Amino acid sequence: MPARRYIIVGAGPAGVHAAVAIRHKDHDGEIVVIDRDHDPPYYRTELDTYVGGSTSDAEMPLYPEDYYREHRIRLRLRTVVAKVHASERTVELAGGERVAYDALLLAPGSYPLTISCPGASNPGVVTVRTWEDARKLIRRVMGTDRPVVVVGGGVLGLILAEGVRQRGRQVTLLEREPRLWAPVLDETASQLVRQGVRQRGIEVLLGEEVAEIVGADGRIDRVTTSAGRGLEASTVVVAIGVRPDVAFLDGGAIRIDRGILIDHEFRTNVPDVFAAGDAVQGYDPISGQFRVVTNWNNAVEQGKLAGGFMAGDGPPYRGVIVSNSETFCGVRVTVLGMTQATGGGLVMLKGLDQAKGIYRKLTFRDDKLVGALLVGNTSGEGMMKKMILEAKPTSITEVKSKFLTGLILEETGT
Ligand SMILES: Cc1cc2nc3c(=O)[nH]c(=O)nc-3n(C[C@H](O)[C@H](O)[C@H](O)COP(=O)(O)OP(=O)(O)OC[C@H]3O[C@@H](n4cnc5c(N)ncnc54)[C@H](O)[C@@H]3O)c2cc1C
Repeated sequence: MPARRYIIVGAGPAGVHAAVAIRHKDHDGEIVVIDRDHDPPYYRTELDTYVGGSTSDAEMPLYPEDYYREHRIRLRLRTVVAKVHASERTVELAGGERVAYDALLLAPGSYPLTISCPGASNPGVVTVRTWEDARKLIRRVMGTDRPVVVVGGGVLGLILAEGVRQRGRQVTLLEREPRLWAPVLDETASQLVRQGVRQRGIEVLLGEEVAEIVGADGRIDRVTTSAGRGLEASTVVVAIGVRPDVAFLDGGAIRIDRGILIDHEFRTNVPDVFAAGDAVQGYDPISGQFRVVTNWNNAVEQGKLAGGFMAGDGPPYRGVIVSNSETFCGVRVTVLGMTQATGGGLVMLKGLDQAKGIYRKLTFRDDKLVGALLVGNTSGEGMMKKMILEAKPTSITEVKSKFLTGLILEETGT
């Protein structure tokens, strides 16, 4: 039998881990990973600490270059996939070359959204998605001692603000919602994170967004906010969210809603075309909805499993669940499962130690743990994740004594 050819679009964690999983199962197959990026695969999650100067160039690559040779994984970098021709089992590259596949993985990840306001096209308005974006930001920030404005108080905005601040620049962070990381944090959690961020010298303005970027000849002079405030800035870092990078699939046969739709074996609706990572919309067993989950661990897990299915079979996939841990200016935050109460029938247990900066909110539905938000002390997160995934009924009294001792408690129902 001729060797199978596996084509993978995207050399992020989903694509690379899929390639490795395929190689473990198929010794002879040809594996080609295509990416438009110029850099060999790297830790996108470290771009903020790279901006801040605490992660070096040497620490960025996912694997040493030899690794790909040893595993006979061919990386085709600086190469854009323009189209998928599912009926003829080829992908078309920008430039017209067509590459045939026996199995195709779509792992194109996300692209960053940006702002639209007067002055938004100024070259000093930047987003950070690639290593090259991070290098450019460092050059801009180090080229002047003028302040920087970061737009967006979600995960990316918070960690990039910290990175820029570590370079000694004055940073103001604008978040249009009344809370930081508003889809996930409640008021108490947001306040604790804000406290940590301000202690690092970052000014946080909530309920304010950019109204105008004032400057000329490619230079920014200042940012005017929706509250009429003027902020001096050399650079505006925009971190207002990401979307699946799936425009190249427009008009094709692959079904897309908010992301590429997959089943429990990572198959799209088109035979032999699989998808994984930030760009997919998978079933979330906790909320019962199909959702896009954008985080590294999710992409790694999905890539590994998808690669297994492409080369044969694999273990059943339980679906995507929210599971994220971040440290914002020294404040550790873990989010598991349901992040906001949607609909009734939920019981929430909240425990707070304001002086120590600890807050824990556990959410239950029908006596089962369905969500956890942990700030300041994230111990027990592994156990909680297991409880959420196993969905076994649990006693609230037991949970209190296990996870909430020493905290001032509040119980609410919705
Ligand atoms: C600054 C920053 C910090 C982050 N920090 C964290 C963190 O601390 N924790 C966390 O969980 N997550 C973090 N993330 C998110 C995390 O990096 C992503 O969830 C993860 O990289 C998604 O992996 P992926 O393989 O699905 O896609 P990606 O890593 O986005 O990789 C997709 C690849 O596909 C390529 N591509 C797309 N379309 C095409 C095409 N048509 N042709 C050729 N190539 C194409 C892209 O160039 C890209 O390299 C961070 C992201 C950023 C930007």
